[in-house]
Amino acid sequence: IKKGSQTNLKDPVGVYCRVRPLGLPDQESCIEVINSTTVQLHTPEGFRFNRNGDYKETQYSFKQVFGTHTTQKELFDVVAHPLVDDLVHGKNGLLFTYGVTGSGKTHTMTGSPGDGGLLPRCLNMIFNSIGSFQAKRYVFKSNDRNSMDIQCEVDALLERQKREAMPIPKTPSSKLPQSKMLREDKNHNMYVAGCTEVEVKSTEEAFEVFWRGQKKRRIANTHLNRESSRSHSVFNIKLVQAPLDADGDSVLQEKEQITISQLSLVDLAGSERTNRTKAEGSRLREAGNINQSLMTLRTCIEVLRENQLYGTNKMVPYRDSKLTHLFKNYFDGEGKVRMIVCVNPKAEDYEESLQVLRFAEVTQ
Ligand code: ADP
Ligand code: MG
Repeated sequence: IKKGSQTNLKDPVGVYCRVRPLGLPDQESCIEVINSTTVQLHTPEGFRFNRNGDYKETQYSFKQVFGTHTTQKELFDVVAHPLVDDLVHGKNGLLFTYGVTGSGKTHTMTGSPGDGGLLPRCLNMIFNSIGSFQAKRYVFKSNDRNSMDIQCEVDALLERQKREAMPIPKTPSSKLPQSKMLREDKNHNMYVAGCTEVEVKSTEEAFEVFWRGQKKRRIANTHLNRESSRSHSVFNIKLVQAPLDADGDSVLQEKEQITISQLSLVDLAGSERTNRTKAEGSRLREAGNINQSLMTLRTCIEVLRENQLYGTNKMVPYRDSKLTHLFKNYFDGEGKVRMIVCVNPKAEDYEESLQVLRFAEVTQ
């Protein structure tokens, strides 16, 4: 099986910034969009003399900055559209939304049914460009211990030229290992164990499955007495493409003819530090795990970026957290990684925004 391979990937890491509008028009703002690649953080009065006068009026640069008036479509066209193009051409992609709770991560990734975010737009574009397809879905599962929800995974199986569906190799869900959350298959791909599968046959069905997954996640979080902001949400779209034979009337099913590519869309847990969420006991531990996985993610992206800038070959420490381990193929250089740093410009978020925007320093 040819994995979505990348040869001389030019631009493996890209970090964008989206500034959401203030919730109330008379709120004090501390983030100013300077131009299409730069934001400035202003220190609000109340924070000036905190912490040994250690405050900053700093500009941060990103691959692109999206101001408060940016529409979902504009964002999709710039950030996600190229990833979907890659996917259809057999290449992998990984897209994160990162930021504190309330900064617009879910708005950006999921949006609402009337104003869909990146994820439904990706599905729409994929299914429109595929025509007939078969898809299966892994519903999911929250694993409290690992502080991670893998909400669902869609496998679209298509035939490249003729755009005909071919059967999905069945894995009975009872045979999926239950004991460990992360597993590695014989092709060295990581996957999450313990999924159930649902087949969908149209864009509408895929959407329905997705919104149902969202609801499930909410219920699961409520059941676990947990806010959804304390978990990561991962949505994988896997595309399996097989060519036609020389006559053009049957699908070649030999393994070496098949191309598998994957687009992973990740709505990360809130990046705020623990004290803000008043965590206690097991929730404190959970917050610790989340911070650990976000820190590892940050380090992985830094190293990847460093390798990109300086042509070095430093090891990306993806094994240090479950979240990054799940995406090890990307960190091994098998696809583009894109991050959207989401910020709420309100003054109360100043200190958290400072931490979040620092992402730009290490990745530019
Ligand atoms: P997060 O997922 O980071 O916790 P949300 O995406 O849930 O934050 O956003 C918090 C609130 O702000 C939601 O009500 C959302 O609709 C609104 N919001 C976020 N970003 C925007 C935006 N760009 N435009 C309009 N409303 C937004
Ligand atoms: Mg959210």
